Amino acid sequence: MTFDSREELDTIRKNLGELSFEDRRVLVTGGAGFLGSWMCEFLIDSGASVTCVDNFASGRKENIHALMANERFRFIEHDISRSLPVETPVDYVFHMASRASPFEFERYPIEILRANTQGVMIALEIAKKHNARFVFTSTSEVYGNPDIVPTPETYHGNVNPVGLRGCYDEAKRCGEAYVIAYRREHRLNTRIARIFNTYGPRIRMDGIYGRVIPRFIDQALTGKPITVFGDGSQTRSFTYVTDQIEGLLRLAALDDAEGQVINIGNVNEITVLELARKVIALTGSKSALTFHPLPEDDPLRRRPDVTKAKKILDWQPKVPLEKGLGRMIEWIKPHN
Ligand code: UDP
Repeated sequence: MTFDSREELDTIRKNLGELSFEDRRVLVTGGAGFLGSWMCEFLIDSGASVTCVDNFASGRKENIHALMANERFRFIEHDISRSLPVETPVDYVFHMASRASPFEFERYPIEILRANTQGVMIALEIAKKHNARFVFTSTSEVYGNPDIVPTPETYHGNVNPVGLRGCYDEAKRCGEAYVIAYRREHRLNTRIARIFNTYGPRIRMDGIYGRVIPRFIDQALTGKPITVFGDGSQTRSFTYVTDQIEGLLRLAALDDAEGQVINIGNVNEITVLELARKVIALTGSKSALTFHPLPEDDPLRRRPDVTKAKKILDWQPKVPLEKGLGRMIEWIKPHN
């Protein structure tokens, strides 16, 4: 199956304006994953040299297949929670390696803890050695089930460390603490992104990897029942991949973002039930809704306060949900 990513790459480029990554040397951990592979592809397309590190835990070879022939792209198959000597110079390190689907939390809790704790430390060591800028892709999950919505970066979180999501939430919180420790002790140039639910082509939709948007679209296109968890009144705020990658690149490139922790997400909140209905309408599906128990500690609301992103990064999401869902449907259709 071929998917033409030109439209997405051009959108990111246009939105970035003057910011350029030409001739930059960038290391991306998790570079074969959903967000990591978009990052690698955009950077290569922009004239950067990219070292992609991935162990294919949840990343996939097909995501980077087209990049393999490019002489500015280097791939290292490696688990970043184990030490990695990198001798070639690096200007930026993006630590993006981690499983991220709640279904994986139950199956791979130790791997998830390692990628976001030891993995962060090893990626930080690479940045330290080369005096590179460090970007950690943290998550809205550090807020747990928030009492304050829209949630600002100053909110300290409401997380259950021993619940099903604890391996992810606490590991990301620990990862953030590592980043700040390296900044304090070694004066590293660091930036932390708290990523809110993001979707787009290349996000996994199979088995335990599937997040709600690709699952609902897949179910709708194949006429299977749409599996709503709980009564569907829980909310999320979904960001399309071009907006997310633009936000991460702005965070990396702008001097004012040094040392900052910034939410990158959409402010438009939608219930899971509304999402299911929207997907049915957009696909013209005859699928029925089925209701299943709400997973443990599933946050009831999630919506970022993006004041900081607007002010420091001059960033705000631009792709409306209907448009992004349309692009997802186009991408998923040939799979079915
Ligand atoms: N969800 C659902 N049906 C599914 C998969 C997920 O209703 O088949 C719900 C899930 O309970 C959560 C929301 O959709 O409230 C978003 O889930 P996802 O796994 O995409 O990510 P999360 O935001 O929970 O990390």
